Amino acid sequence: MNTDELRQRIEYFKDLGVKELYKREPAPVAAPEVFAVDAPVAPIELPQLAPSGDTLVQISQDIGDCTRCALHKGRNKIVFGDGNPEAALVFVGEGPGADEDAQGIPFVGRAGQLLTQMIEGTAKKEGIPLTRADVYICNVVKCRPPENRTPEPEEMEICGQFLFRQLQVIRPRAICALGSTAAKALLGGKDGVTKLRGKWHKWHDIPLIVTYHPSYLLRAYNVDAKREAWEDLKKVLHFVYD
Ligand code: URA
Repeated sequence: MNTDELRQRIEYFKDLGVKELYKREPAPVAAPEVFAVDAPVAPIELPQLAPSGDTLVQISQDIGDCTRCALHKGRNKIVFGDGNPEAALVFVGEGPGADEDAQGIPFVGRAGQLLTQMIEGTAKKEGIPLTRADVYICNVVKCRPPENRTPEPEEMEICGQFLFRQLQVIRPRAICALGSTAAKALLGGKDGVTKLRGKWHKWHDIPLIVTYHPSYLLRAYNVDAKREAWEDLKKVLHFVYD
């Protein structure tokens, strides 16, 4: 073996991270291509689930000009959340639509107007002095999914970390999950609204109720679902504000 071959062999073993050259089979003179390694993928950086002293402002700053998932590519505005930061009741939707993406505020389109009417109408009928501004409203994902598609599990997982922090900071008396995406994000599992609604669940130790998403209720044929949604809302409003 000449000096050049020896040097190549040493480099080869160095690449493998092997210190004890002598225990090895003789190495090929040039490292074969199978040892080429793809460039490492940059890990997605997520802050702690519940950093001590966390605040909504801090969460919003941590989200920053987020590029952690593909949804950032099509968004105009990040839709963080809206309402009373000390609310006793938090509504969680799926993700922003076109109007929300344009304004940066959750539930301001048709579904949002229905949600506002539902909250304020039901509260008034039940003798509870409550407006939309008294509750807090946010979504599982903060950027609009293209064509309003359902968020992918990975997108929900990444953005869900910020939702969890929002809920930990606000610590409401109850949470109302609007639709099956919010229910899945908060409860796990695969069950849809029909199965989950009508009974109490818990997100950590906070009581949680699942009801239909207002977009679903906008479809004219859902007469039963509308009645059920009003029942769910009555239940959660009395629980929180009585
Ligand atoms: N649908 C949602 O789930 N969230 C919004 O903010 C608007 C519509």
